[in-house]
Amino acid sequence: MRKGTKSFVILGGGTAGWIAANMLAKGWQGKDYDITLVESPDIGIIGVGEGSTPPLKKFLDYVGVEESDWMSRCDATYKTGITFRHWSTRAGFDEYFHPFQSQPDEFTVPAFYHNSFLRRQGVDLDGHPSQFFLEWYLATQRQAPVAPPNFPFKMNYGYHFNSGLLGEFLKDWAAKKGVKYRQATVTEVVLDDKGYIDYLQTDSEQTIKADFYVDSTGFRSQLLQQALGVPFENCAEVLYNDSAVVFPTEADENPEPQTVSTALKYGWAWKIPLTSRFGNGYVYSSKYVDDDAAEMEFRQHLGLGDSDIAARRLKFKVGRVREHWVKNCLAVGLSQGFIEPLEATALDMVQETVFRFFEAAMKGDMSDRYREEFNARISKRFDAVRDYIVCHYRINTRTDTPYWRDAGCNEKISPSLRQILTAWLQGKNITDELERQALDAYFPSMSWNCLLAGKGIYPTQDQLRPGNELAHKFNLHDIEKYLRGCTLNFRPHRERLDELRAAANA
Ligand SMILES: Cc1cc2nc3c(=O)[nH]c(=O)nc-3n(C[C@H](O)[C@H](O)[C@H](O)COP(=O)(O)OP(=O)(O)OC[C@H]3O[C@@H](n4cnc5c(N)ncnc54)[C@H](O)[C@@H]3O)c2cc1C
Repeated sequence: MRKGTKSFVILGGGTAGWIAANMLAKGWQGKDYDITLVESPDIGIIGVGEGSTPPLKKFLDYVGVEESDWMSRCDATYKTGITFRHWSTRAGFDEYFHPFQSQPDEFTVPAFYHNSFLRRQGVDLDGHPSQFFLEWYLATQRQAPVAPPNFPFKMNYGYHFNSGLLGEFLKDWAAKKGVKYRQATVTEVVLDDKGYIDYLQTDSEQTIKADFYVDSTGFRSQLLQQALGVPFENCAEVLYNDSAVVFPTEADENPEPQTVSTALKYGWAWKIPLTSRFGNGYVYSSKYVDDDAAEMEFRQHLGLGDSDIAARRLKFKVGRVREHWVKNCLAVGLSQGFIEPLEATALDMVQETVFRFFEAAMKGDMSDRYREEFNARISKRFDAVRDYIVCHYRINTRTDTPYWRDAGCNEKISPSLRQILTAWLQGKNITDELERQALDAYFPSMSWNCLLAGKGIYPTQDQLRPGNELAHKFNLHDIEKYLRGCTLNFRPHRERLDELRAAANA
């Protein structure tokens, strides 16, 4: 970046490009910065990516969007967490819930940690995570996680949405905030004699010039990877999936506010409730199964039989670029990398990248001073997310296909993940290990505990011994009573979605 940078071109109008446009417009509101988003009329968006984590709400709050503004327009529903099904063959652990932890759980999480910790020492206590979290009750009772004003605790939740509609909504929102929009397909990226991007050549012979460029061209990464030659470091050795097949199915009248992730023979399938349909996708590895066989397996899983409903097939690569900000170019979204969609972290990464870039640019008075620090920070985030996702595969106990057997004994996992697993298997407190490695800022200790406990990584039932009174410190009936009591404050998911639709139509 050169001092005095004032004009920005964001190349690409997928969700990543529009999130970046809104965040930069908000950050520099009232200041003399010029932001233009350029998008090809001929190259489509990827059109998947329908689940979020709680930070999406923070982004929407930051740019001033209310739920009544966008949810109904984007067929959105609430998300309190993810159910993982059939990832483990251990008795009692066929499924578990990974919640977006909220304040009411602070009273019950110590009981989960206590039981889980002692169970790893061989004490016969119930260490299954789901029952300790309000979000699991809300998900299974189909209640929206929106608390009434008199509820004394803060709730934390994500959303599901139609990604194309969300992009259109954010495009309109950005226009209101002064972002300019232009349609053009960039055919050539021209560099100056110092290797900075000078201008973009389009197919209509017009050129586009700015001080700084944001690459949000998706997997093409036309600016950062193609023009500036920044290397892509793939992590296919630890994450085998490279393909997906996607089907819509009929919507549920009162959908559960959760994503369901079901392990199949060569990967896993997502089921995401929207108000208009379910989004379903099977993410698999083409090294272990061919596309036709995967589609057939998925059709059977969804009970589609011989129906002629058309599938969409996608290919993707997993990994990240070596540097996200180089010279006068920042990559956001799929152009900077992708750690498969198991925990729906991609948009969170977009927000974090733009926020940290903005912070570094401002702190450095629009110079490169904090660029290296920024790049290291974003790469560390990618690697921490990768390890959490890899852990799902490494600790699976399925043996039905070579895919699961290979994943379950993959020795190429990172030293960092190996240390976390060792700490857990040695019965240590993994919160300490995560803090030691400064990893708890990415996936908190609660998430790691749910993952390892939820897949039943405990001594087997015949190795357990009864606990004494001290071990039975927490009464599970009291916990259930407290959490069920909390749910009385929440309304049916359907009722809240209807209210949002009525507000949008008013
Ligand atoms: C199978 C799968 C499932 C996913 N699930 C989730 C999920 O649940 N949650 C989540 O957060 N994320 C998910 N993701 C990731 C998510 O889809 C993306 O992060 C998100 O859609 C943002 O994409 P993007 O904007 O980077 O790229 P795209 O949507 O591909 O947009 C690229 C844009 O660049 C433009 N463009 C490209 N080349 C040019 C050019 N030469 N000139 C002009 N314009 C150009 C295109 O016109 C388009 O507007 C998933 C991804 C995959 C593959």
